[in-house]
Amino acid sequence: MKYISTRGDKTERAFCEILLEGLAPDGGLYLPVQYPKVDDATLTKWRGLAYADLAFEILSLYIDDIPAEDLRAITRRTYTEAVFGTQQITPLKALEPDLALQALSNGPTLAFKDMAMQLLGQLFEYELGRRGETLNILGATSGDTGSAAEYAMRGKAGVNVFMLSPHGRMSPFQQAQMFSLQDANIHNIAVEGVFDDCQDIVKAVSNDLDFKRRHKIGTVNSINWARLLAQVVYYFAGYLQATTSNEQKVSFTVPSGNFGNVCAGHVARMMGLPIAQLVVATNENDVLDEFFRTGVYRPRGTADTHETSSPSMDISKASNFERFVFDLLGRDGARVKALFGAGGFELNAQEKAHIADFGFVSGSSRHADRLATIRLCHQRYGQLIDTHTADGLKVALEHRQPGITMLVLETALPAKFAATIREALDIEPPRPAGLENIEALPKRVTVMPVDTGAVKAFIQAHV
Ligand SMILES: *Cc1c(COP(=O)(O)O)cnc(C)c1O
Repeated sequence: MKYISTRGDKTERAFCEILLEGLAPDGGLYLPVQYPKVDDATLTKWRGLAYADLAFEILSLYIDDIPAEDLRAITRRTYTEAVFGTQQITPLKALEPDLALQALSNGPTLAFKDMAMQLLGQLFEYELGRRGETLNILGATSGDTGSAAEYAMRGKAGVNVFMLSPHGRMSPFQQAQMFSLQDANIHNIAVEGVFDDCQDIVKAVSNDLDFKRRHKIGTVNSINWARLLAQVVYYFAGYLQATTSNEQKVSFTVPSGNFGNVCAGHVARMMGLPIAQLVVATNENDVLDEFFRTGVYRPRGTADTHETSSPSMDISKASNFERFVFDLLGRDGARVKALFGAGGFELNAQEKAHIADFGFVSGSSRHADRLATIRLCHQRYGQLIDTHTADGLKVALEHRQPGITMLVLETALPAKFAATIREALDIEPPRPAGLENIEALPKRVTVMPVDTGAVKAFIQAHV
C-alpha cells in the first residue's frame, strides 16, 4: 500500500516514510491510494479475534514495509488488558436494546487518544531503532493530547518528548497526570502564558529549519496517518461486538473536534464495514455540524472559539476534515487545494447532495444539554458519562433508526471532568484504581517565560 497527498501531489510513499511525518510537502494530508475492501468472508473470519489480532489484520492491509511477525508483536505489545483494563480493550456498555456506549477511554490517560497514541509509541520506537535514529517530539497541549503522547512515549528508546503547557491553566488532575511522570525522556515545560503562546513557540521552533534538522524535532499531531489507522480498528471491534451476522448494520455517534476520530469511521465504512450512519456530534463549536447541515465550511478564529465544558472539542477548524472532502470530491486534489487554500468554502449543489452517500449526519450540543444528558444517562441507565460522551449521546438520541444498533463512542472518563459531573449530579466521579491521590505525587516540570530562545536552550541542553 502506498500513500498520496490530498492536494494533488501524486508521489507515492510507503507507510514507514510517512509514519514520522506531519503534512505532505504540498501542504496536504496523506491517504492510501485506495481503500482495501474487506469482504463478507473476511469479516466473518475476524469474528472472535482478540483485539490485538484484529488490529494486526487491519494494519496489515495498509502496512507492507514492516515484516508481519514484527507487526503482530507490536499490536500484541500495545493492546493488552494491563494497559486498557479489559480483555475486549473497547467493550460495549449496553444502555438499552440497540443502544450502547463503546468504551475507548480505559487507557492510561482516561481518554480515547490513548487508543492510537499507544500504538504510535510502539511504531516510533520500532522504526527509529531500525534506522538507528532519534526523534525529539515537541508539542503544545491544553490537556488530553499532551498527556496521551507522554504516556505513549515514556521510556521508549530513541524518543524524547518536550511538551509545553500553559502554566497553572490545566486542571489539577491533568497537571498531576503529566507532571508526575519521572521518566528521563519526558520533559514538561510550563509556559507562563496561555495555550496559544505555547503553540506559537512550537511553530517558531519548527520554522527554524536549521534548529529543527540539527535537533531532529518532530511532532505527534492529530493528522498523523498512523493515528487515524489505529482508530479504524475499534470501529470494526465495535461492529463485531454489536452484531452476530454481517447482514446487520450499525451506526456510530462520534463526539468530534478535529474530525480525527470520525474520519477513521469514514475509512472503516469505505473498507466495506456495514455502517449505516456516522453521526458527527459537536459542542457549541459547531463548524462541523454547520458543514454537514449546509455544505458550508466556515472555520472560526481563536476569538470565536468558545471555551466549553467539553474542552477537547473546542476547535475552530477541523484539521482532519480535508481527508473526507478529498473522497467526497472524487479525489480531485486540485479542487481540494483550491477549497482549503481559500480558508472557508461552500460546496456546489451536486457536491452537497453527495454527502448523504457517505452516511454522514450531524448535530450539536450545549452546556445545558450536557448536564441534562449526564443526568438522564445516570438516572435511566445507571451509567456515569463524561461531558464529551454526553455531547455524543445527546445527538445520538436524535438520530436513532429502527432496527439499527447505535454505538456512542465514549471518549473520556468522567473522572477527568469532575467539576461538570458535580454540577450535574452533585456527586464526585470515581477514579480508576491507582489514581486516587495522583495530585500528591512529586512533580517533574520546568516553568519558563514566553520565550522561544529559552525553550530552544532547554531542548539543546536535554538531547
Ligand atoms: C480529542 C478528543 C475529542 C475529539 O476528537 P477528534 O478526533 O479531534 O474529533 C473528543 N473527546 C475527547 C475526550 C477528546 O480527547
